[in-house]
Amino acid sequence: MRAVVSGGAGFLGSHLSDLLIEKGWKVLCLDNFATGREENVAHLAGNPQFELVRHDVTQPITVEGSADAVLHFACPASPVDYLRLPIETLEVGSLGTRNMLELAQAKEARFLLASTSECYGDPEVSPQPETYWGHVNPIGVRSCYDEGKRCAETLFFDYLRQHTLKIKVVRIFNTYGPRMHPNDGRVVSNFIVQALRGEDITLYGDGSQTRAFCYVDDLIEGMIRMMGTSDEVTGPLNIGNPHEITVRELAEQIVRLTGTRSQIVFRPLPVDDPTQRCPDISKASSLLGWSPRVSLKDGLHNTIAYFANMLENAE
Ligand code: NAD
Ligand code: UDP
Repeated sequence: MRAVVSGGAGFLGSHLSDLLIEKGWKVLCLDNFATGREENVAHLAGNPQFELVRHDVTQPITVEGSADAVLHFACPASPVDYLRLPIETLEVGSLGTRNMLELAQAKEARFLLASTSECYGDPEVSPQPETYWGHVNPIGVRSCYDEGKRCAETLFFDYLRQHTLKIKVVRIFNTYGPRMHPNDGRVVSNFIVQALRGEDITLYGDGSQTRAFCYVDDLIEGMIRMMGTSDEVTGPLNIGNPHEITVRELAEQIVRLTGTRSQIVFRPLPVDDPTQRCPDISKASSLLGWSPRVSLKDGLHNTIAYFANMLENAE
């Protein structure tokens, strides 16, 4: 079995590639390194099951040989990254998705989209079920990402209706773990790196906004299970951890776990920052028999160890 993983050198794509390879798949990783890093897949170099091609998915591509699955993970994913690359982000969601759909169609491959909870925008319903259509600002600074992913989902379902492609759409909620980029600006990486460096921990707003954090291993397990479902199962399907906490509680927990002397300081809340986010995972539980297993404490412990090691080696 052979899979094409776009964005395979990123945080999630590299973990996904690892698990696929462990399960005996061959993996062709397509990445332009806009936000990913070669070191995320350095351990796979020389592995005959793994191939890395530098490619921008907004450009069409043909792939030699067969492909049984295409998993489309390419996209700047952190607010800091997509605010820096707004047009590129919208293009990955639209053009990039179209190109990957064409590839999947040509290979008659199963196609999974790494979509996002951002499709729900700043939700007025909580927890968010897949049936909720969302509350998204179409012209705001986050729109390039939110609307890009919503466009990607639309394309998926139009390809299903027009070409009977085998599609799977997964809406990923905030996921964290080793291989996050230390400068991606996401809350878990920011707080841990700040705590380990003894710098101020920057809480945006009053920290009362909520998120629900899923450890990477749980997420990837859910993805693989979704890939294994029958053709009628298209999603969209929420995958995330329903343990909802405030961002302030997250900061306090990271302070406790790292034993840092860093102070928590308050900074302005970014524009259109969602006030709450929590997945309703009842569909994933019943369809896949899946639910997250790793506690926030254990997941943070592993992530702190990863960043501590990285910072030590950088010195
Ligand atoms: P990431 O930035 O680590 O990975 C994205 C990868 O895509 C990077 O390797 C980057 O270089 C690559 N990429 C970007 N633009 C590209 C292009 N035009 N052509 C080829 N490659 C390109 O982010 P991540 O957290 O691993 O996210 C992976 C996917 O999961 C994204 O599609 C993201 O929207 C989705 N997602 C992630 C989360 C999360 O919490 N991590 C939440 C929701 C959705
Ligand atoms: N956040 C914060 N301090 C930081 C980085 C982020 O308080 O240094 C907040 C951010 O405002 C948001 C939440 O943490 O409310 C999650 O932000 P992140 O960028 O990780 O992802 P989002 O869920 O917003 O896409």
